[in-house]
Amino acid sequence: MKSQARVVVIGGGAVGVSVLYHLAKKGWSDVVLVERKALTSGSTWHAAGLLPLFNMSYSVGQLHKYAVDFYPKLEAETGQDVGFSQVGNIRLAMNQDRMDEYHQYAGVAATIGVRVDFLTPAEVGELWPLCNIDGLVGAIVHPEDGYIQPADVTQAMATGARQRGAEIYRNTTVTAIERTAGGEWLVKTDKGDITCEHVVSATGNFARQTGAMVGLDIPVIPVEHQYIITEPHPEILARRERGLPEMGVLRESDGSWYMREERGGLVLGIYEAGAPCCYLDGPSDDAEFELFQEDLERLEPHIEAAINRVPAFGEVGVKEVFNGAIAYTPDGNPIVGPAWDLPNFWLNEGHSFGITAAGGAGWQLSEWIVEGEPTVDMMGVDPRRYGDYATKGYLRKKNEEAYRSVFVIHYPDEERGGARPLRTAPCYDRLKALGAVFGQKFGWERANWFAPEGVAQQDHWSFRRSKWFEHAANEARHVAEHVGLLDMTAFAKCRVSGPGAEAFLDYLLANRLPKKLGRVGLCHALNTRGGVLSEFTVMREAADQFYLVSAGAFQRLDHDWLKKHMPADGSVQFQNLTNSIGVLVVAGPKARELMSRVTDADLSNQAFPWLMSHDIVVDMTPVRAARVNFVGELGWELHHPIECQNQVFDALVAAGADLDLKPFGIRAMDMLRIEKSYRMVGTELSIEYSAFESGLQRFVHLNKGDFIGRDALVKWQEKGFENQLVTLEIHDVTDADPLGNNPVFHGGEMVGRATSGNYGPRLDKSFVLAMVPPALAAEGTELEIDVLGARHKVTVTPESPYDPENARLRS
Ligand SMILES: Cc1cc2nc3c(=O)[nH]c(=O)nc-3n(C[C@H](O)[C@H](O)[C@H](O)COP(=O)(O)OP(=O)(O)OC[C@H]3O[C@@H](n4cnc5c(N)ncnc54)[C@H](O)[C@@H]3O)c2cc1C
Repeated sequence: MKSQARVVVIGGGAVGVSVLYHLAKKGWSDVVLVERKALTSGSTWHAAGLLPLFNMSYSVGQLHKYAVDFYPKLEAETGQDVGFSQVGNIRLAMNQDRMDEYHQYAGVAATIGVRVDFLTPAEVGELWPLCNIDGLVGAIVHPEDGYIQPADVTQAMATGARQRGAEIYRNTTVTAIERTAGGEWLVKTDKGDITCEHVVSATGNFARQTGAMVGLDIPVIPVEHQYIITEPHPEILARRERGLPEMGVLRESDGSWYMREERGGLVLGIYEAGAPCCYLDGPSDDAEFELFQEDLERLEPHIEAAINRVPAFGEVGVKEVFNGAIAYTPDGNPIVGPAWDLPNFWLNEGHSFGITAAGGAGWQLSEWIVEGEPTVDMMGVDPRRYGDYATKGYLRKKNEEAYRSVFVIHYPDEERGGARPLRTAPCYDRLKALGAVFGQKFGWERANWFAPEGVAQQDHWSFRRSKWFEHAANEARHVAEHVGLLDMTAFAKCRVSGPGAEAFLDYLLANRLPKKLGRVGLCHALNTRGGVLSEFTVMREAADQFYLVSAGAFQRLDHDWLKKHMPADGSVQFQNLTNSIGVLVVAGPKARELMSRVTDADLSNQAFPWLMSHDIVVDMTPVRAARVNFVGELGWELHHPIECQNQVFDALVAAGADLDLKPFGIRAMDMLRIEKSYRMVGTELSIEYSAFESGLQRFVHLNKGDFIGRDALVKWQEKGFENQLVTLEIHDVTDADPLGNNPVFHGGEMVGRATSGNYGPRLDKSFVLAMVPPALAAEGTELEIDVLGARHKVTVTPESPYDPENARLRS
């Protein structure tokens, strides 16, 4: 065994072996993998081997697509059969909402190059003659996916890795991981120690135990998952004898099950409610090829549904039942990327579709390790999308919920109820009393919209304009006409200070830092390739002190990024202020009048212009008031000590009574921001687009001196851009606005993709933000867009269709 290696990968399941393979393929041959037992002896060996391309997430979809392209090629490369059966994959729809989901998904698929076709019930019957097509509305089919032999594909990747110089140590257990004085990792095993630059944790059901070795609370707990294999069925055997093709994978999403042929019989896998979390304290030391006692009782309603759909399933006996552990995270997506707070420690954990995702996750993680950046926007799987609120107790609730929700309709406005409320701002009860219907972000409860009197405080989800739509639109109009109050306590906040703070931030951010005390700047952090990682509102508090605000959902990610770049000489200090500062936003033409009733501060435009912040007193509370907002109206963000939030809240409400002050929610905010073409991280701003493609020219200063991403951006600019962010007005909308990820067409050909879209209540039109080729970005260009299967005409409009001169913001 080597005592020194560049990378140690821990875990010899499909995921770990894929990382090893891809590192070696990228030319890092001095890499080793340590597996405590045999390869695949964790979850990998008993997986059903399905490779579903279907995924509503743009990131995960790309990882799945990579794997389905890559696995069959392994055979030629390594000589090892991977058992890939490209039998296709049908997903049934039993209602219109499900069809809407498939149409929205088809947009995602088109934009990442995945083929998906729509089927009528009769066509389903032709492809799957044993399927009863009663009650079907339609279906989709992925002709290119199917299933694979999980152990074989893992062994093939192991062969490919070894051929490139990588080494695999089986029957070797990692017992501890330490940081050396020289800044390397020391991986201790029961067979000796290995010093290395990077560690990759790919330990499946052991994720939390591995994390504990380095002080990480990894948000992964497995859930039990079962599938049933039947005896052969005469009809299936007869089809074989007649030389008919295998019937492929069949999924009845509304019944929460999947089925495929297996040696003349059928496999039925079920995602049922009531499946418990397992291995709460990790598997035992000797766990290997482990299965749990089957529990068919809790599968019964689904088995009945399956028999109703495929009567043949009920006509043969059960041959075998597999009940194994499947790793889960609260949102069901894996955890792929850097660990927070630790240098060169990488996570590839929490895979619930790990056979499908292994290829792509190994590919992107090795890009990240070797090149310093992934090439796919990995936001949806980044480990730092969770915070320290994701405790073991939280995970137990959320992971069981994620498991039973695998097949629920993935509505764009879905808000799951598990483990809530968890993090609440002090004004939570007041908002609730005012009719708030809450959603959740990064554990925080945030008011999505407000039910007016007489309307139930209950959410309704849809791919189309839902029951909340008119109320959110009214809230938005009210902000534009009067004044609104929004709780944004969930914002991530921090302070960066010290003699080196200015130089440090200047190198990290693409914009010039605000010079004047109190001045507010919008500053973006780019990655080394010139793509956009984060957006910070930066306020200068002193010559050597800055207050930074960023999206609540990205708190750990943004703060980790700052901390990891801080110089080691102690010249810069970081302080996380998220939980100690609350934020209330007042916005609308009457905002100044409202504010003047609760503060003595001079609020005149001259004394308090747009993009300025001042420390003032609101009623009795010291507040940092900043003239910025995300809705495009006159207004202030009020940052205050969190313990005084209700004092500020009550003062505003009392003072605003005769100004018709009303609360508004996140959904109204999103409607308002789209009319201003305001970009968001994770949609318009992404590492897949250069800052200039995303239209950040105003915020990027190439001539201010060096900063991360600058040189790459210059090179990218010289090479020319493929995309340009445009605002499109969409015509003939009746009940469905674009949700993002919609394909954009020109002359019948797909030329771009929407990043987001919404109804604009102030202009009473719908808008889309989209990436299109620069040649098609001129104002007035007519294009087309797909919204839930319907083509709409769209026209490129000037940026910020509402108040393009920002007169209202500056008023
Ligand atoms: C019944 C069932 C059916 C499934 N069907 C499918 C399917 O059809 N399609 C699909 O995509 N997915 C499926 N899955 C999920 C899939 O099995 C997993 O997502 C995948 O196997 C995860 O692979 P992994 O490499 O992350 O974990 P594992 O295969 O569990 O590998 C982790 C490895 O790490 C090793 N390890 C842990 N700690 C240490 C240590 N300290 N030192 C050394 N080694 C260590 C373990 O021994 C283990 O071998 C199914 C799961 C179940 C339970």
